[in-house]
Amino acid sequence: MNDRGFLLIVSSPSGAGKTTLTRRLLREYDSLDFSVSFTTRPQRPGERDGVDYHFVANATFDRMVEDGEFAEWFVVHGNRYGTARAPIEASLAAGRDMIFDVDFQGARALADAWPRDSLRVFILPPDLATLASRLRSRATDAADVIERRLRKAIDELGHYTEYDELIVNAELEPAYRVLTAVYLTRRHGDHDRPDVALPLTELAAVKAANRATDPAAHARTLIASATS
Ligand code: 5GP
Repeated sequence: MNDRGFLLIVSSPSGAGKTTLTRRLLREYDSLDFSVSFTTRPQRPGERDGVDYHFVANATFDRMVEDGEFAEWFVVHGNRYGTARAPIEASLAAGRDMIFDVDFQGARALADAWPRDSLRVFILPPDLATLASRLRSRATDAADVIERRLRKAIDELGHYTEYDELIVNAELEPAYRVLTAVYLTRRHGDHDRPDVALPLTELAAVKAANRATDPAAHARTLIASATS
């Protein structure tokens, strides 16, 4: 049982559908806040400053690094991305959960900083062709950027062992059901409770059934097909 706020850290190779899954969870559960990262990368069409990211100049990012404002920051795809510490502390103190969309380096740093209050989830694509086509369908990125993202995606896959839960996103609905089960059982426990109007035992079974599909074996197959 865990009614105290925690960090739900979600990573995946670009193109595995992580954003769709996490945004839906955020819409559905009021107990969750989104950690809006800071980045020096250019804003894409449709992205909102202060909502999807805080888009900042290099000088601003430098100043924040110097002032120790980041819980973690890294260079990803040639741009800097960082998570501010203050909103995390505010959410946890208020008993709220925070969801993070960060790469494996950020996930590791956050889990090191909040070891008891973190849960790391990795979203896997069904196959590499799907990953590549999802990346290419993002017409907002140039071809060389897409190639770089594909290489980084394969690299990112190699870190699946660092995560607590693996979810294969072959189809959105079942993947979302597992993510929901993982989130709610971490927050409220694996057994039905009179004070929580959620089918926790059933949700724990969804989580167990997902583990029984051996998503780690799927990750190993993906990595083997990328390197062969
Ligand atoms: P994109 O530019 O496609 O939005 O994100 C690129 C990558 O940067 C994704 O893997 C995303 O999870 C990661 N990312 C976004 N924000 C942060 C952050 O604050 N810290 C770290 N370490 N990675 C981040």
